[in-house]
Amino acid sequence: MIIFENTDYKIQSFISGMLSNNSYLITSKTSKKNIIIDIPYIPRDLFSKIPRDPLNKSNNVKNTIGIITHGHFDHIEGIDFIKDRYGEIEIYMGFEDSKYLDYSGKITKLRSQEKIIHEDIQLEIVYTPGHSQGSICLYFDVKEKKYLFSGDTLFPGGPGKTTSYLNFKKIYESISNKIYKLPDETIILPGHGSGISIEESKKEFHSFEFKGHIFGDITWKK
Ligand SMILES: [Zn+2]
Repeated sequence: MIIFENTDYKIQSFISGMLSNNSYLITSKTSKKNIIIDIPYIPRDLFSKIPRDPLNKSNNVKNTIGIITHGHFDHIEGIDFIKDRYGEIEIYMGFEDSKYLDYSGKITKLRSQEKIIHEDIQLEIVYTPGHSQGSICLYFDVKEKKYLFSGDTLFPGGPGKTTSYLNFKKIYESISNKIYKLPDETIILPGHGSGISIEESKKEFHSFEFKGHIFGDITWKK
């Protein structure tokens, strides 16, 4: 599905895998560079849309990078599929989650780096621990629109799943202190399901009162 398109950039989304994971593809029409965000199981539709050089895989590897929002299996299962058919692209992911990835290609582990700049595609990294320790979100400002690729950190209706009270506190802080500081018109594009604007998400959040010792599958209505 085409989410956004102007004369410079195109953003597309694809669904694959048992858990209906989203993956996203940002392409630059000027530089021909591409960024893939999350690579779920057998991403055939995604693969068919990545611009490629059929004669020279090394050009593919130069033009395309992958960024993984977090290390849960459903977001990384398709990496070997892309490696075998397209090339061993460089993968970026949060340092603490990189242990989940078994990959022969280059992995850039993100700890404090603020941006990923792939020629004319520039994404800001928002470190959002909670759903997993190394979860990151990616902010893309295309002037007329702003997007946040949120992985499993924030969905319409509430935060991603957490496994302890401490992790719930972390995700709550990641959302309220970092994500909600972004412009209200930003569209959140999550790892599963459809998106929501930050403005709408804040409205849902305001009905939520922080209670101690909760974690797991939380909605802002509980
Ligand atoms: Zn997850």
